[in-house]
Amino acid sequence: MGRTEEILKELDEYLMTNLYPTHRIVVREARDIYVYDVDGNAYLDFMTVVTTALLGHNPPGLADAITETAKRLIAGNGYNWYTEELLNAAKAVLSLFPDRNMYNKVHFKLSGSEGIELALKIAKRYTKNTYVMYLMGGYHGRTYLTGSYHGMRRKEYGPLPPGTLIAPFPYPYRCPFGDMPPEECGKAAVETIEYYINYVAIKDVCCLVTEPIQGVGGIVVPPKDFFERLKRVLDTYGILLIFDEVQSGMGRTGTTWAFEQFNVKPDIVVAAKGMTGGLPASAVVTRKEIASAMQLNDEHSTFGASALIMAAVKATVDYYNMHKEELLSNAKRMGEYAMKRLMELYDKHPLIGEVRGLGLMIGIELVKNRKTKEPATKETSDICLNRALKRGVLFVTSGWNGNVIRFAPPLTVKQEHIDKAIDVLDKSLGEVER
Ligand code: PMP
Repeated sequence: MGRTEEILKELDEYLMTNLYPTHRIVVREARDIYVYDVDGNAYLDFMTVVTTALLGHNPPGLADAITETAKRLIAGNGYNWYTEELLNAAKAVLSLFPDRNMYNKVHFKLSGSEGIELALKIAKRYTKNTYVMYLMGGYHGRTYLTGSYHGMRRKEYGPLPPGTLIAPFPYPYRCPFGDMPPEECGKAAVETIEYYINYVAIKDVCCLVTEPIQGVGGIVVPPKDFFERLKRVLDTYGILLIFDEVQSGMGRTGTTWAFEQFNVKPDIVVAAKGMTGGLPASAVVTRKEIASAMQLNDEHSTFGASALIMAAVKATVDYYNMHKEELLSNAKRMGEYAMKRLMELYDKHPLIGEVRGLGLMIGIELVKNRKTKEPATKETSDICLNRALKRGVLFVTSGWNGNVIRFAPPLTVKQEHIDKAIDVLDKSLGEVER
């Protein structure tokens, strides 16, 4: 029995049932795009811990920054005293925003979910309105509140908290309003949102929270002009637009923020994952006027914004800023290359219903039949958790029906890695189609 088997056997005995359908590997080490297990097997990481290892695992400078800080200060947070690391991280994160009139205040929390919850609290404080609106299929975390928004779990953990409205997201491949061009689908979604604002919430809405591109929901890219249209309506009613860039942020889509590609400036942005290098942090970023609605003692977190975490954020963002041009151009170039090669797979494999994405945030939706679009859920899971894994590539599933393969390598990915991952997909698709 290998070390992997031994550890898995004991984990199965001691852990609560694993609450996520994970790869059955035991990881010991990871560097750039490579992940190594306890038996010395190497894997190419095309899931990057759901986009956290955005700059590759353990980018230069990160471990040193953490180690140097750990030798001086571990316990402590950003609430009961201040640290220089907190200041440095705040400056680093704000440096990622192109418009400093819109984005000049930041507050750190420990996770994406907590960041979203803080953004909602700020919107309530600022607008003094009640309802929160979010969009169907969006994913904002697994706390009791954000988890209740998670469509796939709503039945088990519902009902929704009072004051929550779900509006349709324009998912072009499966438009909730029927078969129509993407722009029409986006227009219909905005009209529905305005209807809800007027006739369900009676204008008492504080914010609409959405991902620019739905990640866990299946790498769903809305029509190009959707957010522009949406923002115009929200502004009419004084409703804040909150962008959850937890997954799409810091270069994943080929620009630092996905919102830059949708010609819109959200009022509040929540970032996490890639920005942290792997330590627990999220950043809620907004402008002074909105931030000033929060009052003393509104927030606390025992571990939040500790010097250790803040040092990691600064090291990660510094590395990103230092190599920004090459990282972004690589994300664009490799994204286009991957799309081209994946379209060749589309021509070859009827199981592929659609390939879509921006930059290196790509989804491959699998269907049993291209006409009926019946989701190929079992096949998707089989490819990600068994067949690709056996061939040394890590992919995870996404989508409401679990039928979308996420293609999310680090921004440092090379063409040879993409070729290998696509060859593995090609073989695995061929097997399940047989
Ligand atoms: N928002 C988005 C878009 C996410 O992808 C995730 C995590 N997958 C979260 C929020 C929640 O982040 P966390 O798991 O750190 O709470």
